[in-house]
Amino acid sequence: MARRTRGPGRPPLEMKGRRFGALTVLGLARGRGTSGCLLWRCRCDCGKKTTEDGRKLRTGKVLSCGCTGHRGPAPRPRGRPRQVVPWADEAARMRSEGMTLAEIGTLVGRSRERVRQVLADRASGGKVK
Ligand SMILES: [Zn+2]
Repeated sequence: MARRTRGPGRPPLEMKGRRFGALTVLGLARGRGTSGCLLWRCRCDCGKKTTEDGRKLRTGKVLSCGCTGHRGPAPRPRGRPRQVVPWADEAARMRSEGMTLAEIGTLVGRSRERVRQVLADRASGGKVK
């Protein structure tokens, strides 16, 4: 009869101490999740303890014990920092090619005043006064 040892198979992914949303992983729990994944004991920021499927934690499907405020992953801004107006580079390029503010405004879908303001902000080194 073979002894059940833990090696040389894959060790359980170390999740202890990691945070997922409002949940902090306390340690491995008994049993398996519905998908066959390991279950982890977690403590929510609200103080409640819960057992969650490791895969759900890692994929962001579970971010709390179920209390309000942590439903699903928060939408992430993609790439660009918020302050930068996405079309500002484009507008600056068009301006350098001699296009008028009105023409640029039409192309980027902004008012002439808005284009002027954004280009002025960029010209002043990004300092918005
Ligand atoms: Zn909670």
